[in-house]
Amino acid sequence: MANDPTAKTLADLDVADADAVLRLFDDVREQFAREAAAMPDMRRWEELRGVWLGRKSGVLTRITNNWLKPASPELKRVVGQALNDLKGHIESVLAGQQAQLEAAADQAALAREREDFSLPGVIRPLGSRHPLRQTFEEIERIFLSLGYTVVAGPEMETPYYNFEALNIPEHHPARDSMDTFYLATPPGAGARLLRTHTSPMQVRMMEKQQPPVRIIVPGKVYRRDNPDATHGFMFHQIEGLAVDIDITFCDFAGTVEYFVREFFGPKVKTRLRPSYFPFTEPSVEVDATCVFCGGSGCSVCKQSGWIELFGAGMVDPAVYGFVNYDAKRLSGFAFGLGVERLTQLKYNVNDLQLYFQNDVRFLRQFA
Ligand SMILES: [Zn+2]
Repeated sequence: MANDPTAKTLADLDVADADAVLRLFDDVREQFAREAAAMPDMRRWEELRGVWLGRKSGVLTRITNNWLKPASPELKRVVGQALNDLKGHIESVLAGQQAQLEAAADQAALAREREDFSLPGVIRPLGSRHPLRQTFEEIERIFLSLGYTVVAGPEMETPYYNFEALNIPEHHPARDSMDTFYLATPPGAGARLLRTHTSPMQVRMMEKQQPPVRIIVPGKVYRRDNPDATHGFMFHQIEGLAVDIDITFCDFAGTVEYFVREFFGPKVKTRLRPSYFPFTEPSVEVDATCVFCGGSGCSVCKQSGWIELFGAGMVDPAVYGFVNYDAKRLSGFAFGLGVERLTQLKYNVNDLQLYFQNDVRFLRQFA
């Protein structure tokens, strides 16, 4: 403050009565009002507080030292009262400003840090399990609950495991029905082929393990077929094999029926129809009541009410001869499930190629 009156005493200012004291205080209050009129920023506010309330040389300290302390006894009460009022006023104005400044700072921080909840999130598309994989898992679940073990076998096989040891000698007509991919091998290395069914693993397991044997073998198989709605050069099977000392045809029929009901539901009935496979005797085709019409007859089952599910049978004793099993003591059954076929019947898929085209419009239906 230029020409600051608070630097002088009341006597120097020639103030002798209460009215003069109050006029002095009015001037000081107006001075404060001018300085605090514009809303300050935080730095300016701290300056203001220092100028007016500073302990060593603030205006109020000077008034205390220069006006109140040396005041005559008659004026002391008036000065003291006016000083208190002024102090209360200044503190209240500065406190109000401080609250406003802090609120504004909070608002600014909020605006800076605000999360925009209307912003679309990052969408991570989740795939679904392939329908064939779902069928694999369902079949594995059913047979695991019956005490079977899941084993895998090689996709590249020798003719011995793929044919001979399964009672399919060279020139056997069954080889014609499984048009085979043979692999180029170095001279003298022996023939190699892509397995045409998962049955070779039956032989490999029986070579390694004495009964009881209860396995299923899920995997890919290969045949030289042109791709169309019902054929592919690669498809999936699950082989099943159970061998023990006292397995009967009844065990076989019961297992098959249990599996079909677990897979398609309790209303589906099964029947066994005589058939032929080189490595089972007797061999059967397992039929089920049509899953589409319930057995009353429709275009899928050609009005018969029955659909063919898979081939199976009691293991031909000739096969035991290849693995040193005692055919007189042992018996068992085998089956070969077509995974595409069972998936097609369960989900009514009419084109085999849909499984392999990775069209998400198809795959999403199985999510
Ligand atoms: Zn039908």
